[in-house]
Amino acid sequence: MSLSRAYKESFQDILIKKLKSSLSNNNADQQDLLPICPRCESDKPEIVSFSPVKGAWIIYNCPVCIYSWRSAEPDYATKPDRYNPAFKIKMENISTFAEVPVIPALRLADRD
Ligand SMILES: [Zn+2]
Repeated sequence: MSLSRAYKESFQDILIKKLKSSLSNNNADQQDLLPICPRCESDKPEIVSFSPVKGAWIIYNCPVCIYSWRSAEPDYATKPDRYNPAFKIKMENISTFAEVPVIPALRLADRD
């Protein structure tokens, strides 16, 4: 089935308006329009960017676990119930994670 370009564009406009309305009004539809983070399941994901082609995808970022994804990715990367359980993060454990070591400075003296 192929949809007309005008139909697709009007649908995309409606979707974007609903998303923006949801973000600004914090209304009851927000749960349907803003996703749950697939990795830590927080309800804090934010919209980072919309696709240059209207309605093609939305990039989200979770400020809790720093997971980012694009809405057009497969379910295993976008849906909490399909995300690989081995890679899930529990919010309450984040504060106990080991600190990532800093990258040491270049040792320029060793180069000739
Ligand atoms: Zn998260």
